[in-house]
Amino acid sequence: MSKIVAEAAIRGAHAIYKEASDFLTKAIEEKGPSQKIGFPETAFYLPMANALLGAKVETLKDASLILAHAQSLLPQLPSEKVWLPYLGDALNAGMSALFCEEIIMVLRYLYAQEPQKDCNGFFTDTIMRSLGIQLVDGRMPGFAAILGAAPDNKTAVAIVRELQERNILIFVGSSVKGRSIIDQLLEEDVQMGWDNYIVPYGRDTLSAIYPLHWAIRSALTFGGLKPGSDKNLLYTKERVFAFGLVLGELDDIKYATGAGAINMGFPIIADTDIPEIKPSGITTYEALVKELDYKKIVSRCIEVRGIKVKVSSIPVPVSYAAAFEGERVRKEQLHVEFGGKASTAFEFLTTTNLNEIEDGKVELIGPDIDQLEKGSKSLPLAITIAVAGRKMQKDFEPILERQVHRFINYAMGLMHMGQRDMIWVRVSKDAFAKGLRLKHLGVMIHAMLHQEYNAIVDKVQITLYTKQEDVDRLVEGALKVFAERDERLGGMNDESVDTFYSCLLCQSFAPNHICVITPERLGLCGAYSWLDGKASYEITPTGPNQPIPKGEVLDARVGQWKNINEFVYLKSNKSIEKVSMYSLMDSPQSSCGCFECIVAIIPEANGVMVVHRDFSGITPCGMGFTTLAGSVGGGVQTPGFLGVGKLYIASKKFIAAEGGLKRLVWMPKELKELLAEKLKKRCQEIGEPDFIEKIADETVATTSEELLAFLTKVNHPALVMESLI
Ligand code: SF4
Ligand code: ZN
Repeated sequence: MSKIVAEAAIRGAHAIYKEASDFLTKAIEEKGPSQKIGFPETAFYLPMANALLGAKVETLKDASLILAHAQSLLPQLPSEKVWLPYLGDALNAGMSALFCEEIIMVLRYLYAQEPQKDCNGFFTDTIMRSLGIQLVDGRMPGFAAILGAAPDNKTAVAIVRELQERNILIFVGSSVKGRSIIDQLLEEDVQMGWDNYIVPYGRDTLSAIYPLHWAIRSALTFGGLKPGSDKNLLYTKERVFAFGLVLGELDDIKYATGAGAINMGFPIIADTDIPEIKPSGITTYEALVKELDYKKIVSRCIEVRGIKVKVSSIPVPVSYAAAFEGERVRKEQLHVEFGGKASTAFEFLTTTNLNEIEDGKVELIGPDIDQLEKGSKSLPLAITIAVAGRKMQKDFEPILERQVHRFINYAMGLMHMGQRDMIWVRVSKDAFAKGLRLKHLGVMIHAMLHQEYNAIVDKVQITLYTKQEDVDRLVEGALKVFAERDERLGGMNDESVDTFYSCLLCQSFAPNHICVITPERLGLCGAYSWLDGKASYEITPTGPNQPIPKGEVLDARVGQWKNINEFVYLKSNKSIEKVSMYSLMDSPQSSCGCFECIVAIIPEANGVMVVHRDFSGITPCGMGFTTLAGSVGGGVQTPGFLGVGKLYIASKKFIAAEGGLKRLVWMPKELKELLAEKLKKRCQEIGEPDFIEKIADETVATTSEELLAFLTKVNHPALVMESLI
């Protein structure tokens, strides 16, 4: 049984090795051994070779060393072998295949043959980092790599939708008999892309290396593991909940690639009559499984890989899951819209007394979306939500209100953007045809608030208004409350509270990392403020956000407290002894991997630069975001480098120990514009109203020489500040 599998995998690995070897020989002949090679936007070279062998492949010559290693792993071909190949041989063949596939793909990049049409190609580090939070907070419980094609388009769509409903990130590609699932989905007009949880990688099996070496990078990025270690394979097995789903016949190449995936702990499920691999001495889990019934195949995959899926059954007539959050409703698909440029619309959540509202009541005052005036495609809209609960606090209102965005977006065929009085909501024709009406918005909000905030919310009542005069009247009151909230938040600072909050969410990926969140310093992912931490603690007292009473001040300048240090030491598995909340140089906070920005020292300028994830250019420290990010993270403290949330840059406590904002010498223009209002306010406060003009960006400096020239010209304060090192 396993003999058939092993033989196929070994034959496949030999074929892949031959292709890699021929391609590399050709490339060396044509371009010379010192030709540079690499995937776009990664700090991990050829990720598989980097993670497992510690190799930093930068040239064709370097690649030939990896190829030699791949060859050494190849078992003899079954036809040449005197003894029977067994499963261990197949696994070696699988590893060899992964190294060779990586080489083939990077050579394709060299020859501009990648990415393939309609495909993502190589998955960048940036994408992985930006998905970090969804991965750790369970919004994305697992990954599926689908290879091949379903027997018909309908089955392909059904499988993908079922996975989406469970919020599993789906990589689609490869093909069978010249047909790829990518084309099946394209033909059925299924929206693809990262936001939709469906990512096409390529139409051949070799490109299935993309999701695999993406997975291995998470060990290096989040796990804090070092390149060149087998532990990286253990990490993917234990922490990356992925599986392969092969639709249609398996060929040798698929067996070889599958054997590689099995090494990483990823089981393969097929819809054909293949020999199964049960747990044995070599794989401790069901590694190769068949399921011929398409109705059962998705749940079988989930069961085999042990993915914990939370399915929310919300009584609305359309599919409902986080995977639909990023889906857009395009103009051609538009049935009706609210807000944006089309009309006035807002959402507003307030607290009331328990006896004043009726839980689950949803009322619509005004016309529904099946009563639009002829030719009209818009309506004004007010979504007013009243909540009551014994543990509800006024402070939690903005937090709950902010979730409305997600709750509405989760519905397939609904799009929601913005918040407060800046919302824009669209309903698609499909959703309308399925029976979606305005009251369902209320149904979703009610159900989800209960589901996620049960600990603080006992009753939720929603009233929707669609008459202009009602919306105009109600928005006045809401605006007043929004302004009050801003004021209250603005007045809160680290001194005015005696408790900070921890966030341990990222420990599922970065086991030693811990964020300490203060009113003036949010979590480095940008998603958790001090208030969020507080609310989350109320909701789940044993959850990832724990209160830490500050206790005795050890050093007010760098921001160290006795209790905070003790807490961090304990929760970082005794790897971090002390942490300064306000310093970049002295025991800075560790970074996991999902930081929005990196602060980095520029010694020549006696200052620091900040770069955000979306900036793809080079920075004056000679590196782009990706490369910089590669040297920060994994739950390690790196003096001189710091992962931070965007808003922290405009905080009074921004690297206060090193002199604060005045140290900032460079940041991308886009980030500067994004934070402009807040930064200008800070400039006033530090007595340098035009300081923002003195911060260089990529339009004036991309090298340290240009930067220094600019700083001298504008007389930047960092030049005369106390030395940073
Ligand atoms: Fe991860 Fe820190 Fe964000 Fe929590 S606050 S999710 S630990 S980055
Ligand atoms: Zn993180």
